[in-house]
Amino acid sequence: MSGRHVTHWIGGKPFAGEPERSGEIYEPASGRLAGTVGLAGRAEVDAAVAAAAAAFPGWRDASLAQRARVLFRFRELVAAHSGELARLISAEHGKVVADAAGEVARGLEVVEFACGIPHLLKGGFSENVSTRVDAYSILQPLGVAAGITPFNFPAMVPMWMFPVAIACGNTFVLKPSEKDPSASVRLAELWAEAGLPDGVFNVVHGDKAAVDALLHHPGVKAVSFVGSTPVARSIYAAAAAKGKRVQALGGAKNHMLVLPDADLDLAADAAVSAGFGSAGERCMAISVVVAVDPVGDELMARIRERVARLKVGPGDHPEAEMGPLVTRAHRDRVASYLDSAVAQGAVLAVDGRDPEVLGGAGGGFWLGPSVLDRVTPAMDAYRDEIFGPVLAVVRAGSYDAAMELISANPYGNGTAIFTNDGGAARRFQNEVEVGMVGVNVPIPVPMAYYSFGGWKDSLFGDSHAHGMEGVHFYTRTKAVTARWLDPSHGGVNLGFPANE
Ligand code: NAD
Repeated sequence: MSGRHVTHWIGGKPFAGEPERSGEIYEPASGRLAGTVGLAGRAEVDAAVAAAAAAFPGWRDASLAQRARVLFRFRELVAAHSGELARLISAEHGKVVADAAGEVARGLEVVEFACGIPHLLKGGFSENVSTRVDAYSILQPLGVAAGITPFNFPAMVPMWMFPVAIACGNTFVLKPSEKDPSASVRLAELWAEAGLPDGVFNVVHGDKAAVDALLHHPGVKAVSFVGSTPVARSIYAAAAAKGKRVQALGGAKNHMLVLPDADLDLAADAAVSAGFGSAGERCMAISVVVAVDPVGDELMARIRERVARLKVGPGDHPEAEMGPLVTRAHRDRVASYLDSAVAQGAVLAVDGRDPEVLGGAGGGFWLGPSVLDRVTPAMDAYRDEIFGPVLAVVRAGSYDAAMELISANPYGNGTAIFTNDGGAARRFQNEVEVGMVGVNVPIPVPMAYYSFGGWKDSLFGDSHAHGMEGVHFYTRTKAVTARWLDPSHGGVNLGFPANE
């Protein structure tokens, strides 16, 4: 794909626009510049919103059966092309192809959920709320919804949003990450092939300028954002100030609590899988293991053993378990936490700075799995979201101290407890101040029919993504009170309507 230029997708076809600016797309495994992407300004955003607004009345009025049929066809097409999508994602993001296929599969689950839209949009009906008066509620689409998504899941995170939004009768403008934009365009092509009317799904590439144009556009009624906490916080404030509906999912620092009675092999497997999968570039990655005394040393030994066996290599290498980081700048930033943690008193138990790379690929944005032991909450490596292959181990003196630490963290995306004590696990799920909890499950990403979202600095707004919360986010409720053919109830009455 050398020299490839990725364009926007507006009104059912590629849209070159007249981009004054373009961004660079890298191949993280080789460090090679692989192509460019047009960065939208106001003109491209206006064109996308205009196409979406023009498509809205027709799509809103399409029957539920028609909408569901398009979704079923889209589901089949994405499934048929999942290998191709996975390779596209792997090349631009760096994650291994099997992992990229996993994100496509999890995104597809949301499409499958949205295929049930006729059932999901059923409102309520109450007969005879007053004499011969009925009341009911209907769920109506909002209009044009926008989605702004991060680099780390270029297919799955957009698919948390647009299948539900579109199924509900909205039209959609996606602004994917400019670092790995190709998957979103392929998804747009598959929508067109599935028979989605032109303009219902649009893609504008870009950076802050495109996002600002979407946030200020009066035609955009709802904004779904997923990305880092500072940007999530500002998008929430800006969109709300413009009277838009907004959900903004932010960053994370996910803790895994290991109690002394846990199966330590299971816990070590989980910590390593959830810490280093996708090179730690997952918002549900485990970044901190909290080992409750006295299991710290034993758990560390098992973690080190497993980390030593991990195979690092290009995403398309059949044996690679972990790929490179997304950009050189991000790789360097992640690596800097190893120095700062050691300077602040942590023990660098595994140093991934000079990894052995399968196939000897040089030039890429490589950082091997690293483990920091005896990390404390005062260290930068604990306080910041590192978003890379660095696992921090904190030693805690008791279950209570560990729980307090986790609940006190400003982030509240995911957490997990590893124990064989049902009572301890139940107390954890009840008390911990985190939105998604795993019990002996390290990455508790909710199924499509539940909703995904963290608490505290991990989510701004009150609706989580997909599931019924997604349906509510992308619809507004109308409550109707109706009386038919009841002449006996005629006559003027200035009193507040009361039930008879
Ligand atoms: P990011 O915040 O840098 O970018 C996210 C999106 O916002 C991109 O589309 C980007 O172009 C745009 N953007 C970047 N800076 C902006 C600005 N100043 N103003 C307006 N828009 C801006 O995030 P990223 O680096 O792409 O992704 C990694 C982050 O996303 C991590 O913090 C991770 O935890 C988070 N994340 C969270 C979840 C979740 O569900 N909570 C899921 C995936 C990723």
